[in-house]
Amino acid sequence: MIPGPFDYQVASSVAEAIALLDQHGADAKVLAGGHSLIPLLRFRLASPAVLVDINRLHDLEYMQEADGTLHIGALTREVDLEASDLIRRRYPILADTARVIADPVVRNWATIGGNLAHADPANDHPATMLALGAQLVATGPTGQRLIPVEQFFTDSSFETTLQPNELLTEIRIPAPAERSGGAYLKLERKVGDYAIAGVAAYVVLDGAGHVTYAGIGLTNVGPTPIKARAAEQLLLGSTLDDAVIAQAARQAAAEAQPVSDLRGPADYKRAMVETLTMRALRQARSRATGGA
Ligand SMILES: Cc1cc2nc3c(=O)[nH]c(=O)nc-3n(C[C@H](O)[C@H](O)[C@H](O)COP(=O)(O)OP(=O)(O)OC[C@H]3O[C@@H](n4cnc5c(N)ncnc54)[C@H](O)[C@@H]3O)c2cc1C
Repeated sequence: MIPGPFDYQVASSVAEAIALLDQHGADAKVLAGGHSLIPLLRFRLASPAVLVDINRLHDLEYMQEADGTLHIGALTREVDLEASDLIRRRYPILADTARVIADPVVRNWATIGGNLAHADPANDHPATMLALGAQLVATGPTGQRLIPVEQFFTDSSFETTLQPNELLTEIRIPAPAERSGGAYLKLERKVGDYAIAGVAAYVVLDGAGHVTYAGIGLTNVGPTPIKARAAEQLLLGSTLDDAVIAQAARQAAAEAQPVSDLRGPADYKRAMVETLTMRALRQARSRATGGA
């Protein structure tokens, strides 16, 4: 199908993008990689009057560690996350996530900011950010505000707490503690597809091997990305042995809200959440204790 008519504006700076968003309000949409937005336009599921293209804002393409935090510019492409030595070495859970998003053609264009701002429960980054306890920087006419990722997604699909005149400009992730590790695992019908189910798990251990932080995020098993809070609680203070991992995996499955669809029946998806959580936690433990 052909999109409806729209005005097309190319922003040459963050300030200009925000001014355009402020001017047009809910009538405007940001265009980043376009790999979620353009299909919506073509199916006329979205009909913005104005597109604000941010692809020339190269100062939003970066990954750098500073002050105990990883800063990722919102316009960073999946392909760059996937290929980054810093990400592979220090944040393998992020490399796990980027490499299973769609296919190389999509990953050449798709941005981490667009993946989060689109708030599709089937997108892979939201679960990983929920597990990592990321913070998102929203920049608007009056400056920046920091949004904890669990407050970024609302109770509705495809909706965030970003205001129409705000741009998502940066993602901030705590730098890894000494004994920390995470993993993202995704089950898909075929390579390049959205998840049947996906699980992100991240843990931090103290010197005695007890869990001081646990994050679990679930992909495509509910109307929104899910933070499996009760499963996380079960892990805190434990030594992350196989028995507690199995218990947390059962709990994560209980917190999933899958529906039956062309990717499979709800019971199957729930069972896959249990299996994937178990495997992701074991891999997180292995990475936290020096393994691969
Ligand atoms: C064939 C195919 C398969 C795919 N498979 C997967 C998959 O397996 N897993 C997965 O996670 N994703 C998948 N995707 C989605 C892809 O990763 C998207 O491109 C991504 O989710 C959106 O990023 P984008 O940069 O393309 O954003 P766009 O499509 O440009 O924008 C998406 C939405 O976010 C808004 N937006 C974008 N950037 C910002 C910003 N900085 N600030 C505020 N709002 C912003 C836009 O206005 C729009 O509403 C697939 C896409 C395709 C076409």
